[in-house]
Order: sequence, then structure tokens, then C-alpha cells
Amino acid sequence: MSIIAENRLSRRSVLAGALAAGVVGAQGLQPAPARAAAPPVGTQTPAWYRFKLGNYECTIISDGPLPIGDPSDAFTTVPKQEIGALLTDSFLQPTAITLEQNALVVNTGRHLVLFDTGLGAAKPFGPTTGRLIANLKAAGIDAATVDAVCLTHAHPDHCWALINEEGRPNFPNAQVFLSKADFDFWTDEGKLQAGGIIKDFVAGTRPQLLPLRQRITFIDGGKEAVPGVTAFASPGHTVGHRHYVVASGPETLFVTGDLAHHHVLSLRRPRAEFAFDTDPKQAVESRLRAFDTAARDRTLLLVYHFPFPGLGHVAKAGEGYAWHPAPLRTVL
Ligand SMILES: [Zn+2]
Repeated sequence: MSIIAENRLSRRSVLAGALAAGVVGAQGLQPAPARAAAPPVGTQTPAWYRFKLGNYECTIISDGPLPIGDPSDAFTTVPKQEIGALLTDSFLQPTAITLEQNALVVNTGRHLVLFDTGLGAAKPFGPTTGRLIANLKAAGIDAATVDAVCLTHAHPDHCWALINEEGRPNFPNAQVFLSKADFDFWTDEGKLQAGGIIKDFVAGTRPQLLPLRQRITFIDGGKEAVPGVTAFASPGHTVGHRHYVVASGPETLFVTGDLAHHHVLSLRRPRAEFAFDTDPKQAVESRLRAFDTAARDRTLLLVYHFPFPGLGHVAKAGEGYAWHPAPLRTVL
């Protein structure tokens, strides 16, 4: 190609570019207008969701996602291939699962009640957890106004935000409700000599529960924590696991705690044992009893570890259950 032809070609392509960019006006080439492409925001919106239950105002507060890795390490009695197929059929990654942490705040008009606290400052599952306090604030709730903290059990992801990093209570005016069996088990000094995960859990739970001993009420199954909030015994996942029923008039909400962990695996295979269960066989019995009742009575559920915000119903399906998330309302 000659130099002249090359020049002509390059002039033509510059002009074409300018035309495409809309900068050739009647006077020929004009200065390009300022570009206003905004940079990506790079953060998620605060994770809370509000709904009404009868006269009560309820707010689900996320503590952030809890990645637990290979599902075969958690659901130990289901063949790996079957787990992979169940997850793939649900359009989920088959080799790694993430649970959510959906804490609940209920304003009954007389009391402000928090159910479970999330993991707090500890990061055994990575950086995504420990967001409850920030999300409470974002939802317009002052932690100092919480009257009662109802714990389903004393595992790290449910009670390690009772005390903050400075050693002070995050909910300074709250009475804490927990089963005596869980308190005794997860603060037992003798278990510090044991190995493995139980020792780690006990070592981290003692500084959460022991300083609050005077504020803890041991709650039995069938007893009310505050009017409208009743505890029920559902042992297995832990020795003293509790679930709660919140009732306002005819409307009820079943706060399941850890009766189930994954919306596909725990429900499609409800007889599967879960690695963190203290007594997996008893946990299966408690799960079947609770979910059979919820399916029969068409009760609204809040499941702590299901996809945010964890609100929905279960229906019987095959040998297990199907999860039907409640439609989210953008206006209260
Ligand atoms: Zn849990």
C-alpha cells in the first residue's frame, strides 16, 4: 500500500470513528462530550426484610452468608453422586454450598425479641459473616432496645454475637432464653480437654454465655419466653435445641432454628444425617415431626439457614418436602 493510500485510509477511519461517536457537527469536528459512566458500587444493599404477622412487626436480619464447603462433608449419609444430582437439578453448584443466617426480630408491641445472633466477630467461615449488628442498624433497630434474645441453641452461628470484641454485651438490656441442656453442654469445662470441633465450640461459647449467666433464663418446651412467643423442645441437632412459635391472633410463625440446614438437601432427604448434629438420629426424628406438622398445618416458617430471607412453607413431596419461598412484598 502506498503512503498516500494509507493516509487516506487512516483519515477515513478517524472520520468514521468520529461520526459513530456523534462528534461531527455542522462545523466539522467538535470536542467530545464528557463521559458520565458511573463506577460500579461494588457492595450489596443492607440485608434485612420486614413483614407483618398479625399485629406484630417482624424484621429478618441477615448475619451474612456462611460457606460450608463440600456438601458431602456435611450430609454424610447421602451418596456424593446423589447430592451432586440434587443440587445440579436445582441449578446450584454441586460441590460447595453456602448457608444463609436469617435472624429474626419481632416487635410484639410490648417486647422486642431477637431470635439468634449470628457469629459475631469470629471468622471461622471466612469474611462474609458477622453482619447482624450493622444490618440491625440499617433496619432502624437499636440493639439496646432488644428486650429478649431467644436462642434456638448454643452453636457459634447462633449465639456468638451476644458479647462483642470488647467483652461487652451487644444487647445490654436483654434477657436471654436458652435450654439448660444446651447451656450445660456448651459451657462444660470438661469438654475443653476433648479434641476437635466440640472443644473449639465450647472454648468460644463459654465467653459468650458465662458472663451473661445472671441474664439467662432456662426455657423448657411448652413455655413462653414473652407473651406470644412459645418455645418447643426439638433435640438432636443439639441436646437442648428449641424452636419457637410466634403467634399474633390466628397468625403464627414457626421459627425453626436448625431443624433443617439446606433448602434442597435437608428437605429432599430429611432422613440424612448432618455432620454438626450432636445426635443425628434424634435430629432426624425432630425434623420429621416438625416439618410434617408444618406441612399439614400450612404454617409459615422462618428457617435460619435457608436462602435469605428464609421465609416460606413446606409441602410434602416424595420421601421429603419441597420448599415454597413466600413472595416478598416491597410495601409493608
Ligand atoms: Zn446453624
